[in-house]
Amino acid sequence: MPSKGTPGMKAALQKTDRSHEPFREIIDRFGLLLGRQAEARDSLEPVDLGTFAPDEQRFLNGEPLVNFLDTELLQGPFRQTASRVWPVMGVIFPSLAESLTLLERKLADVPALSSQCLQAVAQGDGETLDSAAARIGVTSDFLLMALGAAYAPCIAAHRQALVSKAPVEVWRKPYCPVCGSDPDLAVLENHPDASEFLVSKSGEVWHHCPVCAHRWRFIRMVCPGCGNQDHQTLTRFTLAESPREHVYACEQCRQYLPCLDLVEQADKIDFDLAALKAIHLDAAAQTRGYVPLSPAPWAALGFAEEQTKAS
Ligand SMILES: [Zn+2]
Ligand SMILES: [Zn+2]
Repeated sequence: MPSKGTPGMKAALQKTDRSHEPFREIIDRFGLLLGRQAEARDSLEPVDLGTFAPDEQRFLNGEPLVNFLDTELLQGPFRQTASRVWPVMGVIFPSLAESLTLLERKLADVPALSSQCLQAVAQGDGETLDSAAARIGVTSDFLLMALGAAYAPCIAAHRQALVSKAPVEVWRKPYCPVCGSDPDLAVLENHPDASEFLVSKSGEVWHHCPVCAHRWRFIRMVCPGCGNQDHQTLTRFTLAESPREHVYACEQCRQYLPCLDLVEQADKIDFDLAALKAIHLDAAAQTRGYVPLSPAPWAALGFAEEQTKAS
């Protein structure tokens, strides 16, 4: 049954404007998937992470928390979310249904293969992924997408337990301190602090993780893709019809990240859906020849090419 998060997500999805119309079908399909992932996350009982104790120095040097986790502990929740998310994924994307059924059956039959898959997706280990894909008889790209869809709710449900063991508030890397994912969205907002005399009118940059839903502060005027700090090669553009929505792009690595300016917005936004609803910014950036930093699957649809390829 739908969880508490879902009616709000449905309402948020319906509340779109004209800039979304060309992407209506993509938004609807991925919105259904994100809704099912949110349900899976909310219904999961977090497991005891045992002796999870990240090395603080290594964390501060840039290793995300998941590096210190025995991923085998997440095997139960991972299989649980897979069995909730994959059938829906097969309905939303019928061309994937057969491979998803095959995948679920193989993982149920061979526990070692399931462990290998979980390790591949959690550690971003390409060799392990390729070897698992060959054993299952699917492509690595498909496997990564399917595993990611099941892994995301699973790691999101354990986020609080993970961040409670490390000083995540000091993290300023471009990728997520919890799971290591690249962000799918930047947001400008103010977090007024009694110790800060001046609050920047232009806001702080906060990144959102599409995998575990963590949000962390990043540095202004730095490319999150390559670290470029030369303001002459950092571009920001805005679409005429949506002045509070921007794209940050870098001329050195040609990557971009959509950005929402919430500095003067009082209403809370649904971060689970915000990047999907910024899909017109993906299209605008890709038309200009930039490539997405975001690992979100819709960002990889290739908007610079013909739209028909997307469906
Ligand atoms: Zn994350
Ligand atoms: Zn760059």
